[in-house]
Amino acid sequence: MKPAYPDHSAPADADTRRAIAPVICYPTETLPIPDLAACRDARDGWTRVAEVLVPARDARCFEVPAGHFFRIRSVEGPQVGDLNLWNAVNLAERFYSGKTRALHGTHLSTGDRMWTSHPYLRPMATITDDTLDWYGFDTFGGSVHDVIGTRCDPYTHNLLSHGGQYHHCCHSNLTRALADARGLSLAEAESHVHDVLNVFMCTGFTRDTGQYFMKASPVRPGDYLEFFAEIDLLGGLSACPGGDCSAEHSSDTATCHPLLVEVFRPKAPPAGWVSPPVNGYDRSHGR
Ligand SMILES: [Zn+2]
Repeated sequence: MKPAYPDHSAPADADTRRAIAPVICYPTETLPIPDLAACRDARDGWTRVAEVLVPARDARCFEVPAGHFFRIRSVEGPQVGDLNLWNAVNLAERFYSGKTRALHGTHLSTGDRMWTSHPYLRPMATITDDTLDWYGFDTFGGSVHDVIGTRCDPYTHNLLSHGGQYHHCCHSNLTRALADARGLSLAEAESHVHDVLNVFMCTGFTRDTGQYFMKASPVRPGDYLEFFAEIDLLGGLSACPGGDCSAEHSSDTATCHPLLVEVFRPKAPPAGWVSPPVNGYDRSHGR
């Protein structure tokens, strides 16, 4: 946080410096634009081929072939979910929360894409529907589906609680789920768990101190976030122990609910769609 009483006095031209207008770091006009109309047309007559119920305070993995869709749906009561995505045949290629944030902003919605890690850096999933798109940004600067948080984890909890041991943070839930799905040890699986898309979570930064905040999610049963799989995906979804994240996480205090993942196979892939190739940078790094 910035100090309330800075050590250094402001220069004479401080107001002028602060008045400089910002520019967008990564204008996205040059990125390939997903054909949302073609994706939505492809949903006509689709078949639901799988569903996975993620229990409260736990996680499950699921597979989504390239060209299929999946939805994360609220059932029973307000609940946020922490989503990890991997290339199903190469766990080293995984969701890159930080670059997705740099490209699309702090909170995602329809038309935004989830990008993969270096050196692959390509779209792995495109958001094709979001029943919470009406929320926009509230007066606190909060919104839903953020890529600014990380995932609740037992290490941070241990630090903040002076030694607490809690085993159902999203980090541990995702670790167990991936270990079970791929026959990995917990240590192996943990190394693949990464920063998440916070599905349905309502978050922002306080305007005065820039601190990360959360508030009760506006999600209600029936709401969903829908994705189109650009590559073969392995997903991991944790139903966060924070429930709707209105009060606290990293404990068994909050009321929690399951989340439902549904996978859909279209009759045919979206017209003109091809699975994106890995990034074209030659990786010579100037040598
Ligand atoms: Zn969590």
